[in-house]
Amino acid sequence: MNHSKSEALHEEALKHIVGGVNSPSRSYKAVGGGAPVAMDYGKGAYFYDIDGNRYIDYLAAYGPIVTGHGHPHIAKAIAHAAETGLLFGTPTKHEVKFAKMLKDVFPSMDKVRFNNSGTEAVMTTVRVARAYTGRTKIMKFEGCYHGHFDQVLVAAGSGPATLGSPDSAGVPESVAIEVITVPFNDENAFVAAMDKWDGQIAGILVEPIVGNFGIVEPKKGFLETVHRIAKEKGSLVIYDEVITAFRFHYGGAQTLLGLEPDLTALGKVIGGGLPIGAYGGKKEIMETVAPLGPAYQAGTMAGNPASMQAGIACLEVLAQDGVYEEMDRLGAILEKGLVEAAAKHNVPVTVNRLKGALAVYFVKEAGQVVENYKQAENTDGEKFGRFFKLMLSKGINLAPSKYEAWFLTTEHTEADVLETIAAADYAFSQL
Ligand code: PLP
Repeated sequence: MNHSKSEALHEEALKHIVGGVNSPSRSYKAVGGGAPVAMDYGKGAYFYDIDGNRYIDYLAAYGPIVTGHGHPHIAKAIAHAAETGLLFGTPTKHEVKFAKMLKDVFPSMDKVRFNNSGTEAVMTTVRVARAYTGRTKIMKFEGCYHGHFDQVLVAAGSGPATLGSPDSAGVPESVAIEVITVPFNDENAFVAAMDKWDGQIAGILVEPIVGNFGIVEPKKGFLETVHRIAKEKGSLVIYDEVITAFRFHYGGAQTLLGLEPDLTALGKVIGGGLPIGAYGGKKEIMETVAPLGPAYQAGTMAGNPASMQAGIACLEVLAQDGVYEEMDRLGAILEKGLVEAAAKHNVPVTVNRLKGALAVYFVKEAGQVVENYKQAENTDGEKFGRFFKLMLSKGINLAPSKYEAWFLTTEHTEADVLETIAAADYAFSQL
């Protein structure tokens, strides 16, 4: 496969854009380097690079593109926004309609606020939790990504519960010490940390189904314990559903699991491909936010008509009968095909799948489970890197990191999935 135009563009990009990319995860650093493939256009489940190569897209732009590229219903909504006004700086009917649509799906939300990214949404939930509880510390789970603001760029140290250490230059220790990190799916570590910092934790940030070290579901009872202890200790439970909302079904992980957090952050899918974030929760908590309350949050672009209309259109597509059932069916075929192809070539893999999202981990021995970050970290990134490049050479575009999930869209077909399995069979045979 010829990538000469992508390579030339990358050379040029390196001169003008830091690292040649506008988000570090787009670089191929984690998969052995090289010029990232630059896309020209997309249609449905495919996108086409500037050298004219076609790929089946499992990146889905790291989650948002659940209805594929160029969906006509969403394109029409965006065109309408472009023609009738992109930004007014005033209220519009679209934001009210969209807020109601989200509230209908999330019983935990009495009130909603829109902003521009998942990072902004999560950042504000943290501020609101602090304002509401009058506490400063937050708890998060190891390996979970919640955006790029200071408080959440804190990695776990060793041990069941450690004070955070900054995971990025520029994050001061004074911020990191406000963040407690514990392993996901480890009830004892969580309870011990809540006891240790009793009365100090404003909010517990949770990816209820983890999408940032592959796909990892909560163990039975784990989230229930988080909710119970949080309530006992007066801490708020904040669900980061930036990846999970409308990914697995028409709703969030919370509606799938039957749990109600105090605050929820949304993003990605709800923008239909345009920039968006949103957060919501119980009236009493949300009314801490300005102009009603003392917690400030604002945005020139917040609730902009284009993102609102694209988001509404996207949810209208997703609300159709059978959409999620089909992604689940194709996901099952893909999972089975990948597992069989890997076994055929004696490559030990673990596949974690929930409906239309899955992760392939290159484990040391077949049957090894991945249910927390340490286990995901211990998988073979070098082998994944080679697999990634082999898949790319066969026209299958995965995210360039062993920690990222593969996402199906409403536009993938069984033929696409079979083509992917055939490519994986080749890639496994070459490892
Ligand atoms: N929360 C989760 C769970 C995410 O996966 C991400 C992004 O990948 C974010 C928050 C940040 O969202 P954004 O990149 O839109 O700022």
